[in-house]
Amino acid sequence: MENFCELSLEKLSTWLTEAGHAAYNGKQIYKWVYEKFVLQWDGMTNLSKELREKLSTTFRLPVLEFVKMTPSNDGETYKFLWKMSEGSFVESVLILSGNRRTVCVSSQVGCPVRCAFCASGKNGFFRNLRPAEIIEQVLQINVWLKQRDEKVTHVVFMGMGEPFKNYDAVIQSIHQLSDPLALGISQRRITVSTVGITEGIRRFTQEGLKVSLVLSLHAPNQKIREKIIPYARKYPLDEILKTMDEFALKTKRDVTYEYILLAGINDHPDHAFELANLLRGRQCTVNLIPYNPVAGIRLVRPEHKAIKQFRTVLFGSKVVNTCRYTKGDDIAAACGQLALMQKEETEKKEENEAEKAVG
Ligand code: SF4
Repeated sequence: MENFCELSLEKLSTWLTEAGHAAYNGKQIYKWVYEKFVLQWDGMTNLSKELREKLSTTFRLPVLEFVKMTPSNDGETYKFLWKMSEGSFVESVLILSGNRRTVCVSSQVGCPVRCAFCASGKNGFFRNLRPAEIIEQVLQINVWLKQRDEKVTHVVFMGMGEPFKNYDAVIQSIHQLSDPLALGISQRRITVSTVGITEGIRRFTQEGLKVSLVLSLHAPNQKIREKIIPYARKYPLDEILKTMDEFALKTKRDVTYEYILLAGINDHPDHAFELANLLRGRQCTVNLIPYNPVAGIRLVRPEHKAIKQFRTVLFGSKVVNTCRYTKGDDIAAACGQLALMQKEETEKKEENEAEKAVG
């Protein structure tokens, strides 16, 4: 069976005509799925029963099974947990901010990069997500938002996984998310974040997309970077910055450098000076993220004073910077926190089930 969300309208219409149905049924089906957010074939009441039956035996929809949604205390962040066909889990986060409804999607189950501060990489890499599994994270959150008469407005590829290690699926999902006939989210409202896979950045530069690119920099020099991002050994910092410059030049889009502030590791004012030197002359923004604690990882968030000092140096060096204070850390939905909690919960559940079976 094919995954419905990987099907363009053109391909769907071809299938319909070959199956003896009218091509215009394709537009009707697209409207049900991508406008009305109806994901059950039986709910598509203007289609014939015969067609609905054929669709249900030919295309898989949905591919993600909703498991649970956890809201944060402030009601601004919601973590969604999905189960996939082989039984593994993946998470997405919905962040409400003013009129924005941003979904942070995962692109892999686990992550091969294994950054020292991140829960997603802690348990290693399991598999790449299919394009439909990425698209449905947004689609199914739209189903949930329908009750509030709202829709997803922005998508960021900053959940579990390194997007450029699942390059083709990420690009296919961006096309479907931004296709006006499908989810119709403007490419300018889509952001991809990479740890610095240079061959991925180069390919991405040539895609002709209007999508923003974020580099997870996290260190002012190669030495510190290697300590906290194992992949940094394979991808030297000067090479990464060169490819980011090429991206900015070719696409005319500003780039953002993310920097997780870790106490005693990369948060000294000297590091801020070094960072300012590194980015001198580059049209960019630095997004500082005070570290979000992850159980089992012995890293510490800097004191407020240290963060302030760091920013003062950047401002003094005319480096545009913002500081993203944590949203959703009470539900482990903040940056770098995805996955571990679920793994622990799943293990606990399995232990309980095993105990019950033995008992
Ligand atoms: S921070 Fe991103 S790249 Fe690093 S381990 Fe976590 S998910 Fe992977």
